Amino acid sequence: MATLEIECPVCGEVLELSDQDRAELQPGDVIVCDSCNAEMEVTRSGGGEDFELELLGILTTCPNCGEEFEVTEDMLATAPTVQADDGSEVSIVSCPHCQAGIELEFEDGPDTNPLSSQ
Ligand SMILES: [Zn+2]
Ligand SMILES: [Zn+2]
Repeated sequence: MATLEIECPVCGEVLELSDQDRAELQPGDVIVCDSCNAEMEVTRSGGGEDFELELLGILTTCPNCGEEFEVTEDMLATAPTVQADDGSEVSIVSCPHCQAGIELEFEDGPDTNPLSSQ
């Protein structure tokens, strides 16, 4: 039994998917990262190593109103960034429920991380 290790594109957490896990996943199914709640859609599941995921968005909870909402790559692309006190950059997205501005900061990931704030 081979286990495929997939690195979360957001936080770098390694998600382990066994043959059986992958056999149960169909294109269109969504996997959620245990660590950062990023949602990834299965785009290919052809058996063996033939398996691909596409990042959908990150589920986050608004600290202001407590509602959950999804931060997508598009939202991040248009979100203004500010410099935090410690020198790291954070993105500001607004909650769709209460319009509060929420600072998002992602942990250091691989350099190719498309959602990296660096
Ligand atoms: Zn993650
Ligand atoms: Zn809110």
